[in-house]
Amino acid sequence: MAAPETPPAARRAQASERVAREVLNFMAAIERGESLAVGLPLPPGAVGPGGAVGTNGGGGGGRAAPTLEQVVKDLPRIQVEENSWVLHQTVLRLIGGGADSELSIEAVFAPFSPPPSEKVLGPVVLSVPPTADKDLENEADVEGSVLIMDRGVCTFASKALRANAAGAAAAVVVQTHDVWPYVMEDSKGEAEAGGGLNVPVCMVSKEKGEAIKAAVVRSAAEGKTIRAELSVSSSEKDCIVCQELYAVGNTLVRLPCGHLYHEACLLKWLKLSNTCPYCRRELPSSNEAVERARRSRQAAGGAGGEEEAWRAFFD
Ligand SMILES: [Zn+2]
Ligand SMILES: [Zn+2]
Repeated sequence: MAAPETPPAARRAQASERVAREVLNFMAAIERGESLAVGLPLPPGAVGPGGAVGTNGGGGGGRAAPTLEQVVKDLPRIQVEENSWVLHQTVLRLIGGGADSELSIEAVFAPFSPPPSEKVLGPVVLSVPPTADKDLENEADVEGSVLIMDRGVCTFASKALRANAAGAAAAVVVQTHDVWPYVMEDSKGEAEAGGGLNVPVCMVSKEKGEAIKAAVVRSAAEGKTIRAELSVSSSEKDCIVCQELYAVGNTLVRLPCGHLYHEACLLKWLKLSNTCPYCRRELPSSNEAVERARRSRQAAGGAGGEEEAWRAFFD
C-alpha cells in the first residue's frame, strides 16, 4: 500500500505560500542593496545566476559561463491563445485493479472534440488495430470504455470518429513522438463532415501512454481491469510565482518537469534559484560537469513526488 500523501490541492497551496515567501525575501534583499548571492541558498554544485556553481550551502557569486541562461533560452515558449489547452486542466485519472492505487496524468484536450460536461469513467481498452486506422476489431469491448489509440497512420479525427461510432466514453491518443505537450487538430474538418463527435478526445505523452498500455496488458493477464476517468476542469490554472491566472496573450515557459510559468515570472525566479518553484527539480545545465553533478544528485535523491507516484502505480 502506498504511503499516505498530501492531497494535490494542499500540496499546491503549501508550494505557492513557500514561493511567495521566497520571492518576497528575495525582493527585500535586492531593496536592501544586498548582492544576489545573499538570497541564494544553492545546494552544493547547483547552478546559480550567471551559471555560477554553488558551494556547500553558500551562495554562488561571481559570473561564470552562462549555462543556465542558455538552457532557459532553449526552453519551449507557449503563447496562450483563445481556447488554449493551457486555460483548462485535462486530467486522466487511472484507477488500478488494486484497492487504492490511482494516479493522475496530465492530458491535452483535442479542441475538435466536445469537452465532457462531467467526469467520464470507464474501463481502459486498447484499440485493435492499435492506430484505429480501420474498423475496430474489438468494437464490442469499446462501448463505454476509455479507448487508447496510437497516433499515426490516419488522422486524429478519423480515429476519433471510429471511437465515437463504437460508443467509447472517451478516446485517448498516445503521442508517438517526444514532442509534448501536443495539441491535436482536425485541419480537414473531418469530425464535422463525419457527423460530429460525442466522444471527448485527449492526448497523453509517449512515455505515459506506453506505460498505460503495458499496465493494461499486465493487469489483464492477472484478470484485473484498470479504469480511467477523464475530466476537463474549467478551473483555470495560475502561475505559482505571481498567483495570477494565465490569460490569452501571455507568454509561458514550460520547464522540463512539465510545470508552467509566465516567462517574466520564471526569469525573476531563476535569479533566486535554479529549481522549479513548484517541484524543486533542478534545471539541466549545458555545462557538462555541472550537468553530471546534477544528474548524480537527482539519482541519489530519488525522483520526487510525481515520479515516485508513477512508479508506485505501475511497478
Ligand atoms: Zn506569473
Ligand atoms: Zn516542476
